[in-house]
Amino acid sequence: MKWIYSPPNLIKKIFSNFIWESKSDKILLTFDDGPNPQTTELILKSLRDRNVKGLFFCVGDNVMKYESLTKEILDEGHEIGNHTFNHKSLFCLPKKEVNEQIQKVNLDFQNKFGKELKYFRPPFGKIDLNTNAIAKQNSLQTVMWTLITYDFKNDFHKVKFSVNNFLTKNTIVVLHDNIKCKSIIVDSINYVIDNAEKKDYKFGDAKECLSMN
Ligand SMILES: [Zn+2]
Repeated sequence: MKWIYSPPNLIKKIFSNFIWESKSDKILLTFDDGPNPQTTELILKSLRDRNVKGLFFCVGDNVMKYESLTKEILDEGHEIGNHTFNHKSLFCLPKKEVNEQIQKVNLDFQNKFGKELKYFRPPFGKIDLNTNAIAKQNSLQTVMWTLITYDFKNDFHKVKFSVNNFLTKNTIVVLHDNIKCKSIIVDSINYVIDNAEKKDYKFGDAKECLSMN
C-alpha cells in the first residue's frame, strides 16, 4: 500500500534528475495549487505560528488573479515554485503547449515580482519525457514528493494515517492550498508538525531541503 502514498522506486529511477526527497535530514512542506483567497492565509498563519517555511507550487493563473496573496507568501519568507499556468495535465500534450504552460508562469513571475522561479511540479504529478526536457530548458528543477497526505480528500483521518505511517526525517510532504481541503488544512499542518516533533524530526526551507550538493 505504500506506493499510494510514496512514489515507486522505478519511477524515481526513470526520472532520476527530479528531486524525490529532502536533500538534508529535514522535512519540507509543500503546498500545491494556490494562491487561493479561501486557504492561503490560513496556511500562512499556521506556518507563522509554528515557525516553518514552506514551498508553494502556485498556478500562474491564480498568481495573476491574487497578486497580493502571492506577495504575502513571498514576504513571509516562503518559496514559490511553478505549477503551470492553468493546472492542465501536461502528459502527452504537444511540446509547444507544455512550454507555454511552463514558460508563461516564469515570465509573469519575473515581470510582477522580479524573481526567477527555480522549482517546478507538474499538475497531478503527471510526467513524461517532453515535460522533463521542457522544464530543464526553462531552468527549472522538478520537485516531486515523498509523501502524499490526501488532504484533498477532505478527510483528516486519511492525513493522519499517511503521516503516522510514512513520515520520515527527509520527507517532502504534499499538502494543498485549495478549497478542497479548506476545513482540514490547518489541522493537517499542525498534525504533521506535531508528529515530526514527537519523533525529533526537523523542518527545513526549500533551499535547505532541495540544494543539490
Ligand atoms: Zn496541483
